[in-house]
Amino acid sequence: LKAIQCLESTDRGVSVHPRSGDASYPDFFMQRCTQCKRCTEECPFGALDDDEKGTPLPNNTRCRRCGTCMGSCPERIIGFKDYNIDLIGSMIKAVEVPEEDDDRLRIIVFVCENDAYPALDMAGMRRNGINHMLRFIPVRCLGSVNMAWIRDALSAGMDGVMLLGCTYGDDYQCHFVKGSEIANKRMENIGDTLSTLGLESERCVTNQVAITDYDKIPQIVNDFVEEIVEMGPNPFKGF
Ligand code: SF4
Ligand code: SF4
Repeated sequence: LKAIQCLESTDRGVSVHPRSGDASYPDFFMQRCTQCKRCTEECPFGALDDDEKGTPLPNNTRCRRCGTCMGSCPERIIGFKDYNIDLIGSMIKAVEVPEEDDDRLRIIVFVCENDAYPALDMAGMRRNGINHMLRFIPVRCLGSVNMAWIRDALSAGMDGVMLLGCTYGDDYQCHFVKGSEIANKRMENIGDTLSTLGLESERCVTNQVAITDYDKIPQIVNDFVEEIVEMGPNPFKGF
């Protein structure tokens, strides 16, 4: 059935599972491209060829619309018309950050829409308690999370950031094959950057769950809140 869906979707120029029917493609604002080749190296589906200088050459028929290229680009020049750097950036800005002298903290969780978000939804429907300091932002795949969003969240005074997505490794469950693993590597690098700024690297973590983990998710996110509470507020809050 998947093969039939693939043929039929390709014929119509739309994406296959898990973004079935998606007719959008990533746009590149090439004037600002530095030809760093990160997008071509990280695309899990080989949908970005490049020329001899390293300029990406999109191969749209292979594109699965995962957004990993958008997450990889340090210049933030890749985006979809309905999913882009500014859209998620606006969602981060819209989150209320408690004042410095308030005893409430604020923690953002970027949640993969494929497994983690439905599992979180299920946890909510089962009335499993989730800490009130958490705010959730759905993303196409953890691979699409641009590190600029993490920096934006911390500069806005958020006290912690978690990426919640699919299992990676040999027994991977990532719907876009490598997105979750790539996000984990990027987070290790941002951890080093945080340490040089004097911020605890443990303020930014990744976690993997399956769609059947709806009973485990509340504990995973609530434990993270407790860790952040122990660390105290983001020292850059208010600056
Ligand atoms: S990373 Fe994903 S969205 Fe970007 S070109 Fe490759 S398949 Fe398409
Ligand atoms: S990641 Fe961005 S800057 Fe680097 S080659 Fe791709 S589009 Fe250009």
